[in-house]
Amino acid sequence: MSIVGHFINGKTVDAAERTQDVFNPATGEVSKQVAIAAKDTVEEAVAAASEAYKTWRNTQPIKRARIMFKFKQLLEDNAEKICALIGEEHGKISHDAMGELTRGIENVEFACTAPQMLKGEHSRNVGPDIDSWSEMQPLGVVAGITPFNFPAMVPLWMFPLAIVCGNTFVLKPSERDPSCALLLAQLLQEAGLPDGVFNVVNGDKVAVDTLLTDPRVEAVSFVGSTPIAEYVYATASANGKRCQALGGAKNHAIIMPDADMDNAVAALTGAAFGSSGERCMALSVAVCVGDEAADTFIDKMSHAMKDLKVGAYTDSSNDFGPVITEAHKNKVDGYIASAAEQGATIVVDGRDPKVAGYENGFFVGGTLIDQVKQGMTCYEEEIFGPVLLVVRAESMEQAMQMINDHEYGNGTCIFTRDGEAARYFSDNILVGMVGINVPLPVPVAYHSFGGWKRSLFGDLGAYGPDGVRFYTKRKTITQRWPSSGVREGAQFSFPSN
Ligand code: NAD
Repeated sequence: MSIVGHFINGKTVDAAERTQDVFNPATGEVSKQVAIAAKDTVEEAVAAASEAYKTWRNTQPIKRARIMFKFKQLLEDNAEKICALIGEEHGKISHDAMGELTRGIENVEFACTAPQMLKGEHSRNVGPDIDSWSEMQPLGVVAGITPFNFPAMVPLWMFPLAIVCGNTFVLKPSERDPSCALLLAQLLQEAGLPDGVFNVVNGDKVAVDTLLTDPRVEAVSFVGSTPIAEYVYATASANGKRCQALGGAKNHAIIMPDADMDNAVAALTGAAFGSSGERCMALSVAVCVGDEAADTFIDKMSHAMKDLKVGAYTDSSNDFGPVITEAHKNKVDGYIASAAEQGATIVVDGRDPKVAGYENGFFVGGTLIDQVKQGMTCYEEEIFGPVLLVVRAESMEQAMQMINDHEYGNGTCIFTRDGEAARYFSDNILVGMVGINVPLPVPVAYHSFGGWKRSLFGDLGAYGPDGVRFYTKRKTITQRWPSSGVREGAQFSFPSN
């Protein structure tokens, strides 16, 4: 059985003290093994990145950007191969894998503007014969730790920008779908990236802890579940590193009584069940304002769900695929069971769907649950499966209060025809990314991505302008070339104009 190894200093490394099974979630079978890096393997990658940094930091930004231009072309040329790998290990249907890859490529396109982003600021004559300017210098070695649910896009949020800013990078992808990261590394090498600038180590907590504590690592970008994000942020910070740690979510959509209900149902069908609900921006809670809106929504949604097609990634007519592991399937099924036990009503039950030819796959069908209330386990926790909860609110204020009270604050959306309500909502909701009749308000690559509350630990979001800030540190230089012969004596008062 093939082993997915590491990519260190421009070479594929297969050495593995330990390995772990990688499943094809559609068949439920083990398809390969992934090497689980020991501490010294991670240290080898950090050493390679540290050595490469000495030259890379001084490589002209335009030359760094040109490599990204070539990398973008190679990503497009190899799109089918990348999407097939995502399908095999994650289970995502090809149209959805293509969507994530395209979003990733947009981040590469943004990274190509590095020379413009790194220009800095300049002021002449801040004092007599004194000029001052700021420049954005790279940090050094940056580590990226990424989740299973976007094996291409989330790494692409991080390393293209970090690298064009002059840093070198060690990526630790999810051990559940590890192959995509290695292919990205090979394409970067083909694009002309010098050895050691980008490295991949596969592994688990041992690899993560090594990256979080190695003094040569200057900064850590993490994306994953909230408990791990919190741990990563605390450990990296305690070790003197800059850290951004993006965590989990529970994204609510408010359905106002005046909403275009057909539009809202169509939007939520994709946003709740697409990618099996395994998106940090999935809309997993519909808060209907008034019983009439709730009844209409439930009626139309249960009707729309009859057409949902769940199946293997190989059939592009499927809407979504399996969840990532058997353990995760059992967890999602458990949340559905707990909802019924705690008094909610299961309107459409997706447990154990029949997928012909894939009887052992980790499938959960689309599930709709009504009469969900605050305090229920299914409401308080992130399910990360194709499960849509319906909560009934008496007013918009009450609906907004629920969202503001929830521990997560990643994304949210309101469906309404009322501009005043929409504006009030976006002004007062305590969530980082807000949609108005837009179900998945994932910011484009030239904005930045980030939730509030326990969905993000750290000051800066991912990619876009925040990404440039995160992967650089400002240096401000103040310079005087005195006019001929003029010399000042010692000055004991604080310099001012
Ligand atoms: P996860 O937290 O299990 O894993 C994320 C990374 O952390 C992986 O690389 C994993 O190997 C590593 N890891 C796991 N356990 C660890 C431990 N004990 N110590 C150190 N490292 C550990 O997350 P996941 O299941 O891969 O991904 C799904 C989660 O990610 C969901 O909660 C989802 O909301 C979140 N997510 C958030 C965003 C965002 O932008 N906010 C984006 C995508 C996914």
